[in-house]
Amino acid sequence: MPAMKLLILPGDGIGPEVMAEVRKVIDWFGANRGLDFSVEEDLVGGAAYDAHGAPLSDETMAKAQSVDAVLLGAVGGPAYDNLDFSLKPERGLLRLRKEMDLYANLRPAQCFDALADYSSLKKDIVAGLDIMIVRELTSGMYFGEPRGIHTEGNERVGINTHRYTTSEIRRVGRSAFELAMKRGKRVCSMEKANVMEAGILWREEIEVIAKDYPEIELSHMYADNGAMQLVRNPKQFDVIVTDNLFGDILSDCAAMLTGSLGMLPSASLGAPMENGRPKALYEPVHGSAPDIAGQGKANPCACLLSFAMALRYSFDLGAEADMLEAAVNEVLDQGVRTADLAQSEGATPVSTAEMGDAVLAAMDSNDW
Ligand code: NAD
Repeated sequence: MPAMKLLILPGDGIGPEVMAEVRKVIDWFGANRGLDFSVEEDLVGGAAYDAHGAPLSDETMAKAQSVDAVLLGAVGGPAYDNLDFSLKPERGLLRLRKEMDLYANLRPAQCFDALADYSSLKKDIVAGLDIMIVRELTSGMYFGEPRGIHTEGNERVGINTHRYTTSEIRRVGRSAFELAMKRGKRVCSMEKANVMEAGILWREEIEVIAKDYPEIELSHMYADNGAMQLVRNPKQFDVIVTDNLFGDILSDCAAMLTGSLGMLPSASLGAPMENGRPKALYEPVHGSAPDIAGQGKANPCACLLSFAMALRYSFDLGAEADMLEAAVNEVLDQGVRTADLAQSEGATPVSTAEMGDAVLAAMDSNDW
């Protein structure tokens, strides 16, 4: 198998700490499964600003464009709060997303059995939950023109425009259908076609894409009902596809069904490259957690599970992704807990590295 090219950008705060555990897992797959990853590491966010005076150098951007997948830790921290807007650590991340044109944001909501009590919902509603929200990330309400605030007579008026084109809807729709083919083969598309023309177009274009995927069961739901259904009976869904604004809200809502920030991975995918792999950035949902940075307290699972997404969606290594996810599940079943999870159970917390080692031990001990 040709080398699979990864660019690792640990970033700031706990980013390097959680990424160190991913490096161990990459090495494990190399040693035990013969997976040939070619890994480069570089700077992003505050770390890049300190070295180069910019939160992402042109050289790093070029590297990101040339690899199969980028894996990012987290960016930001109090030391950079007073920088000019254009130099803030977050601008490095936004530049990556924009220049790689990552239009499909994947936010899984997966509830590990051992953590079902962490949800604000009843255990039986979330136990075994495994859904995927695909949010359109580069268009819609957050980007549409005209936008702004102006004065009309005695009134100030704030305007944003919810605008989608055929191709924007079709490409994210295709991402959702492709994902569903690797999962439960069901897609639920959410919009407000009852009150929004852009919603009618969304529904019609998703129907067009569905014709290419006869195996997929497609349903449509108004986004407000979707929000209700997510907290009433989330397990009814497999893949949800929705626009930028609704996706922002629905994916946060779904994430909280599962409890802890330290467990949530994400991926942002763009168009397929020449080798057929999509442009891709994988990152945990959490930030740089300056309150615990440098103390070995961070939970590495969100970052490990982001790498599992890379295995599945960039490299078509579904069995290896399953293996890593199963190892995380097993470790949680054993009662191993980092501080963020230990608190509410009164358990003795393990360090970031001990959590990573426990995951490796679970991978070692199983006859996969
Ligand atoms: P945060 O996600 O960094 O932290 C929120 C809380 O969750 C903190 O108490 C933190 O200790 C805890 N936490 C987060 N991840 C954890 C983990 N893996 N293990 C254990 N505990 C964890 O959010 P914040 O405090 O609002 O932001 C801190 C900095 O991170 C800011 O500079 C912000 O701009 C940045 N940020 C970056 C990203 C990103 O890189 N994608 C996302 C959000 C925030």
